[in-house]
Amino acid sequence: MRKNMDVPAAIHTYGNGQPWQGYANWPTSPPLSSYATAAPSCPPPGYQCPNKSMQNAPMTVGLVAPPSMGVAAPPLAPPPPTAGHWHQQHQTSWGPPPNHFNGVLYESNPDPAFRSNPQSPQGGSGSQPDTRVLSPSSESRYGLDPQHLPSAVQGIEEDREEWGGKVFLSEPGCPLPPLATTDCTVEDRGNASPRFIRCTTYSFPSEGMTAQQSHLPLGAIVTPFAKLEKGEHPLPVCPGTADKGCVPGCSGCGAYMCPFMTWQDCGQRFFCPFCGKLTEVPWQYYQPTNGQGQRVDSDHKPELSLGSYDVLELHTGQSAGLLLALDVSSVAVKAGQLDLICQQLRSLLSSLSREEGGDQSDLRVGLMTYDSRLHLYDLSPTLSRPHMLIFTDTAELELPLWDGLLVPLKDSRDCIDSLLQQIPQLAAESDEAPSSQELPVQAGLKILEAVGCPGKILVFHSAPLTETTLKHSSSGFFSSSKPKSLFQPTEPCISLSKACASQGCSIHLFLFTQQDVGGSWPGHTPYMTGGGVYSYSRLQTEVDREQLMCDLRRCVGTETAYRAELKFFVSKGLRVSGFYGTFTPGPNSAHISLAALDWRTALAVQFTHCGPLDEKRGVVIQVALSYTSSQGERKTRVHSLTMPCSHHLTDTFRNCQSQTLLSFYCKRMYSAVLERPLQEVREELQTEVTEMLASYRRHCSSTSVSPGQLVLPQFLKALPVYVNSLRKSEVLLPGLHSSVIQRQQLRSQIVSMDIKNTATQFYPLLLPLPVSSEPLGTLSVVQTVRCSALNLNPGGLYLAHCPLSLLLWVGQCVPSQTLLQLFNTACFSLLPSGQVCLPVLENPLSISVRKFIDNLQSQAPYTLKLQVVKQGDTSEEALLHLLVEDKSPNGGASYADFLYHLHVNSLRLLV
Ligand SMILES: [Zn+2]
Repeated sequence: MRKNMDVPAAIHTYGNGQPWQGYANWPTSPPLSSYATAAPSCPPPGYQCPNKSMQNAPMTVGLVAPPSMGVAAPPLAPPPPTAGHWHQQHQTSWGPPPNHFNGVLYESNPDPAFRSNPQSPQGGSGSQPDTRVLSPSSESRYGLDPQHLPSAVQGIEEDREEWGGKVFLSEPGCPLPPLATTDCTVEDRGNASPRFIRCTTYSFPSEGMTAQQSHLPLGAIVTPFAKLEKGEHPLPVCPGTADKGCVPGCSGCGAYMCPFMTWQDCGQRFFCPFCGKLTEVPWQYYQPTNGQGQRVDSDHKPELSLGSYDVLELHTGQSAGLLLALDVSSVAVKAGQLDLICQQLRSLLSSLSREEGGDQSDLRVGLMTYDSRLHLYDLSPTLSRPHMLIFTDTAELELPLWDGLLVPLKDSRDCIDSLLQQIPQLAAESDEAPSSQELPVQAGLKILEAVGCPGKILVFHSAPLTETTLKHSSSGFFSSSKPKSLFQPTEPCISLSKACASQGCSIHLFLFTQQDVGGSWPGHTPYMTGGGVYSYSRLQTEVDREQLMCDLRRCVGTETAYRAELKFFVSKGLRVSGFYGTFTPGPNSAHISLAALDWRTALAVQFTHCGPLDEKRGVVIQVALSYTSSQGERKTRVHSLTMPCSHHLTDTFRNCQSQTLLSFYCKRMYSAVLERPLQEVREELQTEVTEMLASYRRHCSSTSVSPGQLVLPQFLKALPVYVNSLRKSEVLLPGLHSSVIQRQQLRSQIVSMDIKNTATQFYPLLLPLPVSSEPLGTLSVVQTVRCSALNLNPGGLYLAHCPLSLLLWVGQCVPSQTLLQLFNTACFSLLPSGQVCLPVLENPLSISVRKFIDNLQSQAPYTLKLQVVKQGDTSEEALLHLLVEDKSPNGGASYADFLYHLHVNSLRLLV
């Protein structure tokens, strides 16, 4: 229940200019959920009653705010400087007198239920008003009821109702694709699946000037190796042109063959939409065209009929290697985890070699150990026991031999196993000083270069971290006049990453050292090479050991593409103006390189007009990614997509989806922090979204809309809540408790996420769990609630889930029977908090909750540890970061306040 809300007395003027005396300090007692009783007895002129507007609304009018929003108008003056971090920063950008703000209006929503039931689908605000967990951070400073704002949960639910379990035909002229969060089947009918490419709009403005007016970024999110769902066909692999397989592409620009090349002269030539040139078809590939201008063999050739296919360029190449590097310095030995690490590696390799006939059976493995020296092992199967080679001069590493340093696992299984058994014993006698974690990376890269294969280097480092490469560097940002950015990698890191990219070498760093304050962050090279950093405090607990095993399995078992070269082709009239994500720049703006990537890796690409677009032909996009598979084959994956273009901005806005835009902004802003101050990046994000809303209002909304009504494009209703969450994320707006290292890690993990994970990262799933033994559905069935403390019931259990954390919140009033069934203890105060494994109990509730959690963990892009959070406990802060609709612990604005500012500022632009 809300009390003493800070709404000062004010004279409000409504649309017709007639003044109306507002309520001083209203409301003081009525709860927001019962807004009908709080409405003024005589509504102001021009005010629309919500129910009335629902019946009489034209297509452009949707939900109108409850009267409480109309009367609880914002203060006339900016809030006092103590109002909070966010407001302090933005006082100067306050909007016009807020007396114009008398309601919220969305563009037409086809579902009348959305308008008639403004509460969350679960009845979050109204069903149990007396037991809700109320938090001051949920409240709006301007009297907006958080439950009545546009809901991201509702948008996801509506899309799921429309598309869940159905088949989406991805073809030219198809409707907007289902959201990335909806489980459905996609069939490739000529356009690449939205799993691989999603555009920020599916109707590009045909003129550059119109595109600029819209302030909508034109671009696409590309996930070249996105996982396919059950029932979707794997990509066909076509023989390359060397094998007279695939019809060769454009001779002018190098674009690959796709269904959007138009055939002329009975199939002798084709027109390329990317460069506008005609290419003669070599006689070996000639086929006549039919009456519709399509080649007669179109249906049999994937390159002529499908949006996505693979081309096999080279059969034989060196398969990928796996190099394991273990820290055996005295520090590592004293830390006491070496034995455990070796045990885990033995069990990993033994499970890999058991997978007979699988992809891993031909895996080549090498071993290194290092302290201040480097030890390599000749593991040739012809030797009776491994030979160790010791290098004391690690500065100038020259490898005298390479044969035997990387051997097929199936041939040297026993040899590697016995070596891993012996390493802890050998190391126990060592009293050598530690070395940098970069030594094994440089040595591993040399081995891969000598063998001529791509691969992964797994470094298990226990000593304190160092950044030795800095000592050798005379260049870089320290010596330049450029201000140092918090997130920028050093020059040596960049050149090491480039060397890794050209070899196709991915670095994975497993850290067993506690060094969080003042230390350097070792993650630049791992993340820039498609690898990662995995930290463990100590391997003393079962949870830690399980996580290590899980991380190892994911790291080694995930199918990876190495040495990737990505080229982008776009229709004449557009050009590629930027890439955002983690990669190495290539020779031109439309070309980049990646050391390694997998199903999780996504990039954003931005387009800019360089001329008018042909509305008859539409826009065509092609991404061609050449890569080496783990078996050593060289392939090219081609994704092509066409969509219409229009000179009406309404078409452009109506064909946008907020999750795609969020993902685009996230990649762009998280890339921008490498170069620019955070404050500037946050302001840019806010300005861009404000201008976009103003543009929509100016060019697309009905003239009858009053200034007090918030107007949002239909599929961008959730954009403000997403953008606010991005704005106040730890990377862009740090809190007191977030270290630089944590933020570096977060940035690196999030910047490469695909759309689904980005959406869940910035708007986590808050799932109410049953407190009785009623069965729990699958993830796609369980209804989530809005991410606000208002929706947490003290009598309930909730799972809060995003790609990087999984929390189980336990309310104080959960029945003791439920606690007993789930935690094996009936007393709330005795419940464990923090990282725990739920006890294995044989009752229906425990079984279904554990199964549900296992399912969430298996789908996550990273290993997730379950964290139990108790209501009222200090552990609850972890949850506050996920309640993104509320004011956040780092001072970020609540959704209601942000939306208010967005609206007021966009109105200012129209004055
Ligand atoms: Zn071309």
